[in-house]
Amino acid sequence: MKLTDTHAHLYLPHFKGDLDQVVSRAKDNGVTCILLPNIDNGSLRPMLDVCSLYPGFCLPMLGLHPTSVKKDYTTKLESLEKQAGAASYVAIGETGMDAHWDTSHIEEQEASFRRHLDWAIELKLPVVIHSRKTTDIIISILKDGYSGRVRGVFHAFSGSTEQAREITGMGFMLGIGGVVTYPRSGLADVIKETGLEHIIIETDAPYLTPVPKRGKRNESSYLIYIAGKIAQISETDASQVAATTTRNAFNLFKLNGR
Ligand SMILES: [Zn+2]
Repeated sequence: MKLTDTHAHLYLPHFKGDLDQVVSRAKDNGVTCILLPNIDNGSLRPMLDVCSLYPGFCLPMLGLHPTSVKKDYTTKLESLEKQAGAASYVAIGETGMDAHWDTSHIEEQEASFRRHLDWAIELKLPVVIHSRKTTDIIISILKDGYSGRVRGVFHAFSGSTEQAREITGMGFMLGIGGVVTYPRSGLADVIKETGLEHIIIETDAPYLTPVPKRGKRNESSYLIYIAGKIAQISETDASQVAATTTRNAFNLFKLNGR
C-alpha cells in the first residue's frame, strides 16, 4: 500500500505532544508523503519547522486560508509573498472561498483567491482550493481566464456530480477525505461517475475524521479508512485506490524525486 495524504495540518497544536508517533503510524500504514497546506502568516513558521523535521516526507504549501482573509488581507499576502523563496513549496494553498461561517469579507476572499491563482501561474505550482458553499462561484472564476493555465485540486470536495464533472473537465482533481465515510455524504455517486483517475485523497487532519474514528482527532494514518471506503464504492481493493490516487498526487504536485 502506497498512500499520499495530500492535505494535513500536522503543525497545529493538536499534534504538539505526539507528532513523532503520528508520523510513524502514518509510515506504518503505507503513507509515503504528507502535504501541509498553510493557513495564515502565523502558521508558516510552525509548518516549515515540521517539514524540516521530516524532510522529503512532509512538504509545505504557501497560501492564506479564506477564513483568515479580513480587511488587511493585502498586507498578509505581501508578507507571505516575501516567503516564496523560503522553502521549496509543492503548491499554492490553501486558498479559495468560504461562505459558511462568515460572508462579511467575501469580496476580499475572491480578490485573495485570484491573487493566489496568479501566484500559481507565476510559480508554476498547482493550487489547493477550499470551497465551502462557494463551489459554483469558484468554478466561474476559474473559467474566467484561469482554466487551462492553472492546475490543482478542490480539497474536501463535497459537491454534486454536475460540479464534479465541470471541475474534472477543467483538469482539476477532486480531493476526497473523511466525509466519504459519513452517511448521506453523496460522494459515492460522485466517485462512481468520476472514476479514480480524477481523485486524490487527504485527511485534512486534525479535522474531518473518518468513520470508525469519528469524534477523535484525525491523523494521516486514518487515510486507510478513506481508501477502504473509496475501494468499496469503486468495487476494487484499497491497494488499487492507494496506487492510483498516489500516482495522481505525484503527477499533480510533481513529487517524484523530492
Ligand atoms: Zn485544510
